[in-house]
Amino acid sequence: MENVTKVPHRLNVVGDFYVTDGCCTACGVPEANAPNLFAYDPERHCYVCRQPVTPSELDGMVAAMAQQELGCIRYRGMDAAVMKALLERGEGSQVDRLHEQRHLHVESSRGRVQHPVLSWLAKIVRWTTGL
Ligand code: SF4
Repeated sequence: MENVTKVPHRLNVVGDFYVTDGCCTACGVPEANAPNLFAYDPERHCYVCRQPVTPSELDGMVAAMAQQELGCIRYRGMDAAVMKALLERGEGSQVDRLHEQRHLHVESSRGRVQHPVLSWLAKIVRWTTGL
C-alpha cells in the first residue's frame, strides 16, 4: 500500500528525507537499515532524526526506503544521484519532485550525458504515478 498523504511527521529534522505522518505500523525497517537516522515518537511512529551524510548512511536510507511496506519514507530533494539510486531500487514513486528532474544524467567518457534507460525509467514512473 502506498502512503499518499505526503504530510510530514512533525518531528522530522529539516532535510530532504522525511517520514509521512499517520501511516505507521512500527514495521522495524528503519532501525534495521539506518538505526542512526530514525527515532520513534511516544506513539511508536518513526521519523527522520538525522539526515544521511556519508555514503553508507545514504545507502542505509535508500535500503530502508526500498524495504518499507507503506511508503512512509519519502525524498523531497533534487539531487540527481539520490534520485538515480532510488529509481534503480524501484522507489521512484517515493520521490516528490521527480517530475521536475526532466533529465537524469550519468558521467561517461564523453562527459555528462543523459542515460536513455534513466530517461525511460523516469517516464514510466511519471506515467504510473501521475507525477
Ligand atoms: S517506515 Fe513507516 S511503518 Fe515503518 S516504522 Fe517508519 S513510519 Fe512506521
